[in-house]
Amino acid sequence: MRPVRDVVIVGGGPVGTMLACVLAVGGIDVEVLEQREQPSLRSRAIGIHPPSLATLAGIGVLDALLERAVRIGAGEVRCDGRRLGQLSFERAAPRYPFVAALPQYETEALLRQRFEQLRPGRYRSGVTVTAVRDGGAAVLLSTDAGQVEARYVIGADGARSVVRHAAGITWQQLGRRETYLMGDFIDTALADTGPGASRAVLYFERGGVVESFPLPGGRRRWVAMTDFLATDAGSADLAALIRHRTGVRVAEPVGEASAFAVQQRLAGRMHAGRIVLVGDAAHQISPIGGQGMNLGWLDAVALAPALQRALLVPSQAASVLAGYDRTRRNAARRAAVQAGFNMNMGRPAHGVRLGARNALVRALTLPPANELIARAFTMRWL
Ligand SMILES: Cc1cc2nc3c(=O)[nH]c(=O)nc-3n(C[C@H](O)[C@H](O)[C@H](O)COP(=O)(O)OP(=O)(O)OC[C@H]3O[C@@H](n4cnc5c(N)ncnc54)[C@H](O)[C@@H]3O)c2cc1C
Repeated sequence: MRPVRDVVIVGGGPVGTMLACVLAVGGIDVEVLEQREQPSLRSRAIGIHPPSLATLAGIGVLDALLERAVRIGAGEVRCDGRRLGQLSFERAAPRYPFVAALPQYETEALLRQRFEQLRPGRYRSGVTVTAVRDGGAAVLLSTDAGQVEARYVIGADGARSVVRHAAGITWQQLGRRETYLMGDFIDTALADTGPGASRAVLYFERGGVVESFPLPGGRRRWVAMTDFLATDAGSADLAALIRHRTGVRVAEPVGEASAFAVQQRLAGRMHAGRIVLVGDAAHQISPIGGQGMNLGWLDAVALAPALQRALLVPSQAASVLAGYDRTRRNAARRAAVQAGFNMNMGRPAHGVRLGARNALVRALTLPPANELIARAFTMRWL
């Protein structure tokens, strides 16, 4: 039997690896078990918000990340070829007055490299956890590479979490399901949004929202709401949809388009005994508004000192972990409400509803509401 680790993290995605780095920097004995042999190249999260940038600075990853990322300093909302309003992130986040955009797999690679420097050999790829049993004094994990024991086990294993299931924690659905089509294209939108402007653009059109975000390498990510999960649609279909709704011509796709359905879900608890959940294992938030990965990172920032305390003073473990559970579930609920608002604003609109929505957008992007909205969009309240 291998030594009992202080903390074993199940799942080496962005949240598990970030937590591993934060714990390692704090001197904790930590190991990550990741089922994939090779990293995923699916580009999901792109937006990295100011509170997360501060955390990345704390673990020594920020400079490398900013060398690769695009800085989005502002966003604008358009409808029928006209600008309804714009938001600057400058005053909302004085230290990092922008959202950094980088494909998730590149961010994950930087985190893995950093953890490898901090704890060589402790990121174990190709190890699948199949069962988890909390024995009271420690937790026993069964994996396809043998058994592992730890004082605390963290479920960072995503929305279909085996750890959450093993801990008997419920998974509640919040709100309704929506569908989108997403793809990256060479950036021809600069002419549309102003030269050199690294701006996010939300097109609130009659047929449903289309969103567009700059990416490194002269690319742009486009996301369009669809009536159904268009699994057979390709980049040409997405380009046609963008043109039809917004008038913008995109050409030259980079990679294939992909369809996704948005679900919002929240775990009934974020800890049970010596088992704790973080990231998508604890809450699945709609990508519309780009919060899921960042919310998980903020879980990690809150969990690290709680775990340190629980390991150091075992008699306080239950109360510090209950505090983590309470604050982070509240943050997840707020994020879900914000994502619900974003999705609602982006739904198809005609006639009176369209007029009312556009008037609301104008009001929200003018002082004094605009600062509050910019703070919400840069995740300053989570
Ligand atoms: C289209 C799209 C766009 C998005 N855009 C944004 C955005 O701009 N900003 C943002 O903040 N968020 C965004 N998100 C959300 C973001 O991608 C997720 O919130 C994030 O990936 C969650 O990270 P995680 O580490 O918690 O889980 P995951 O990324 O799901 O990682 C879980 C890891 O656990 C491993 N694992 C699973 N089961 C086991 C097991 N039994 N044993 C061992 N390992 C296991 C998996 O292989 C995986 O590597 C987006 C999501 C989508 C779908």
